[in-house]
Amino acid sequence: MKTTLLNGVKLFSIFFSLFLMACGNDAANKTATMDSTSTSTAVDSTVTYDISLVDNKKDPTCGMPVTAGITDTAHYEGKVIGFCATGCKEEFLKDPKASIAAAELK
Ligand SMILES: [Zn+2]
Repeated sequence: MKTTLLNGVKLFSIFFSLFLMACGNDAANKTATMDSTSTSTAVDSTVTYDISLVDNKKDPTCGMPVTAGITDTAHYEGKVIGFCATGCKEEFLKDPKASIAAAELK
């Protein structure tokens, strides 16, 4: 009776510490991912597009400022338009005239 109870407590604490470790690892991984992303955006301009290379201030599709990060670009009437995502570019290219004003060209 006594040993069964002890084993139960042991098992519980093992599970509990595993749960805590899993949680901790998850949080650490998320932080590391966020850190590497912000570092690459700020320092390494070869990975993401530099905002000085594009002629728009805002993603014309979703309205996000290009300073938040550009992952794709499109050429439109001699201008380079930066987008936060490829999906935004595709949406823009369906009807560029309708949304070019929202790009707030420099
Ligand atoms: Zn966007």
